[in-house]
Amino acid sequence: MKRARVADLLRREPGGVVEIDGWVKTARHAKEMSFIEVSDGSSVAGIQVIAEPDLANFEDEVRALRTGAALRVEGELIESPGKGQRVEVAARRVEQVGGVGDDYPLQKKRHTFEFLREIAHLRMRTNSLGAVMRVRNAASQAIHRFFQGEGFVELHTPVITASDAEGAGEMFRVTTLEGASADPDAAAADFFGRPAYLTVSGQLEAEIGAAALSRVYTFGPTFRAENSNTSRHLAEFWMIEPEVAFLDLDGNVALAEAFLKSVCGDLLEHCRDDMEFFALRVEKSAIDTLEHVIREPFERMTYTEAVKILEASGRDFEFPVQWGADLQSEHERFLTEEHVGRPLVVTDYPRGIKPFYMYLNDDERTVRAMDVLVPRVGEIIGGSQREHRLPILETRLQEQGLPESEYWWYLDLRRHGSVPHAGFGLGFERLVQFATGMANIRDVIPFPRTPGNAEF
Ligand code: ATP
Ligand code: MN
Repeated sequence: MKRARVADLLRREPGGVVEIDGWVKTARHAKEMSFIEVSDGSSVAGIQVIAEPDLANFEDEVRALRTGAALRVEGELIESPGKGQRVEVAARRVEQVGGVGDDYPLQKKRHTFEFLREIAHLRMRTNSLGAVMRVRNAASQAIHRFFQGEGFVELHTPVITASDAEGAGEMFRVTTLEGASADPDAAAADFFGRPAYLTVSGQLEAEIGAAALSRVYTFGPTFRAENSNTSRHLAEFWMIEPEVAFLDLDGNVALAEAFLKSVCGDLLEHCRDDMEFFALRVEKSAIDTLEHVIREPFERMTYTEAVKILEASGRDFEFPVQWGADLQSEHERFLTEEHVGRPLVVTDYPRGIKPFYMYLNDDERTVRAMDVLVPRVGEIIGGSQREHRLPILETRLQEQGLPESEYWWYLDLRRHGSVPHAGFGLGFERLVQFATGMANIRDVIPFPRTPGNAEF
């Protein structure tokens, strides 16, 4: 006899004695029988346990079982007469390990995702958040599988950094100083002897890796103190950042496409039940969307072409469309959802709206940037070919008011064996949002951090 996961039991043939551990999803106490659905988080479906009066603790314990209680069950795996399940467990022993009070907040009815966020310590017991966490896990595995299969080296880049990778300044400061002495000007006395921050991107360090190991990727937490309360922004999120030496923009676009296709295919293969749950309960098109991504080639256009299309669309956008201004979410979604109807890679953005490290095109007005836009989510990937020519990189730093003194090591990479190279950043939660169809990014991460929220 072996303790088994519910997911595995549900696929087994009837027969034999099994032990399961889990929590009561629902308990229905009929006259001479109790029907207890037990879940251990291994699948959307729980397993039905049938308890009868021959159990010693039937009257005083089994009859009192409620949703949420923790259980250990031993019983026979039998063919289920009910529909919707192949097998069920005829209990020989039911032991309540941890009971619940009247105030257990999760009941059989559907709860809103907003409500569930207030009980983040329990919400993973729901069907939807459980499915999200399993898909999240599978996506993480799929990402590693893809890069490992392509010969990339995973590089662990620092969480604490002194440089502002984007030059955008939306960073959380890290300090051991308190009160007035916490002034950044007094940072010489601080732990690192200089101002330090939580990283917004591992890219610059990944470039160091690529300049030695050729193909690297990072997969780690990133932090942005941007005060944007949207359904697509978190203050703490996970980012995957491949960086490849001897790669140009075209190669980078091809890498992003192959990568997304591979991960989506992997999810359909490994998370079929959970994906079916999302298609049924959350977003009708969830599975179709993934199949579509795998099948169709991504569309590609330049920023300049995108602006022309938006201008000619006749749409009344909230934010005006103008060459030189960044594309807003509404523009991105129009392009990918309505204009092309599939993933779209927009390249060659104006130099003024992109970071200093992107390769300057010969027109000197645009840089070799690429954003991958997908239906429902908008931007899922942002990347570029990097500027590897020292004099131009120096000019770009000055242009953006960034001190060369802080980027000396980054500039050094251009002094010693510099090569064209490229990479991108994929927001992990945006990927999970895209795959599951979940509307709010806060509901695809176990413990969301947003302005004003850091409980749990
Ligand atoms: P956006 O324009 O959507 O705010 P960005 O241009 O600031 O994104 P990048 O700096 O290019 O984003 O970061 C790379 C990727 O990281 C994005 O394509 C996105 O998938 C993800 N990302 C960026 N900011 C956030 C955030 N606050 N929360 C979750 N994911 C994010
Ligand atoms: Mn971006």
